Amino acid sequence: MSISALHKTEMKPKEYKSEVPVVWCPGCGHHGILNGIYRALSELGVDPNNMMSLSGIGCSSRTPYFIKSYKMHTLHGRAGAVATGAQLAQPDQLVMVTGGDGDGFSIGGGHMPHMARKNVNLTYVLYDNGIYGLTKGQYSPTSRPEMTAYTTPYGGPDEPMNPLLYMLTYGATYVAQGFAGKPKVCAELIKGALEHKGFSYVNIFSQCPTFNKIDTVQYYRDLVLEIPEDHDHSRLGKAIDLARGMENGKAPMGLLYKTDKPTLDEKLADIVAKVGGHKDYDLNKIVDLYRP
Ligand code: SF4
Ligand code: MG
Repeated sequence: MSISALHKTEMKPKEYKSEVPVVWCPGCGHHGILNGIYRALSELGVDPNNMMSLSGIGCSSRTPYFIKSYKMHTLHGRAGAVATGAQLAQPDQLVMVTGGDGDGFSIGGGHMPHMARKNVNLTYVLYDNGIYGLTKGQYSPTSRPEMTAYTTPYGGPDEPMNPLLYMLTYGATYVAQGFAGKPKVCAELIKGALEHKGFSYVNIFSQCPTFNKIDTVQYYRDLVLEIPEDHDHSRLGKAIDLARGMENGKAPMGLLYKTDKPTLDEKLADIVAKVGGHKDYDLNKIVDLYRP
C-alpha cells in the first residue's frame, strides 16, 4: 500500500518519542539519525497506529524502543526476514527496519539481497559506523582495512564492502545515502524512502566515538560529497557510477536511484486473485497431513 492511502495525523517530531530513555553514548551519530526519523515521521503525518518498526541486534537496533509505533526487536541479522513476513501479513502498515552494518551485512547478509530483488514494500535504514558497537568494538563488513579493533589488533586484512553497490545491483528500487551529522538531509532521505512504494534502502554514516576511533565526525564530513542536483536518479548506470565514488575516497550523499516496480505484496495479491482467492484453502487439511 502507498503511504498516501494511510490515515494521517498531526504530531510534532518530539511527539514520536516513546517513554523509553535513549541510552546511546554521548556523541554517538545514532542520535542524529533518530532525530531525522522523528522529523520524517512528523512531516509525513504518520499515525503510530499505522507503523511497524523492527530491528535485529546492536546499538542501532535499539531504535524501535525510542519510537512510538508497533515494534519488534528480533534476532541478530533477522529483522529483514521478519519484516518481510510482517509486511506481507499487514500490507496496510508502514514498515521500517533499522539496524547496523554488522547486523545487516554480516549476520543478516543472506537476507539483504532478497528484500531488494523481491521489492518488498519496506524501508531499511542502515546505521553504518564501520564497527560492532554493542559488543564492544569488533571489525565489521564496512570497516576500513587499516582499522585496528578488538578483533584486528594489527589492522584488518579485508576490503570493506560497498553497501550502495550491493543494493543497486540486487535491484533495490530506492537507494540513498546520508550522514548522521546532517539530520535534515537524513530526514529528507528517510521521508523519501518511507513515501516510496517498494524496497527502499538508506545507508547513513554514523560515528561511533567509543569504539571506532578513525571514522570521526571530521572524517565523514570530508568523505561525503553532495550528489549534484542535475543527477538523473532514474538511471541505474549513473547511480552505480556515483556509488563507485567510494573507490576515489568520496562517498555520494543524497538520492542515487529511484524507480517504480510492482512490489512483492502486489504480485502475491495478483496471484491470489488469479487462482480465485483462498476459498479452497483449508489449514486443517494441511495440518492433518503432518499429524503423527
Ligand atoms: Fe553509539 Fe558506539 Fe556508543 Fe554504540 S558504542 S551507542 S554505536 S557510540
Ligand atoms: Mg555498526
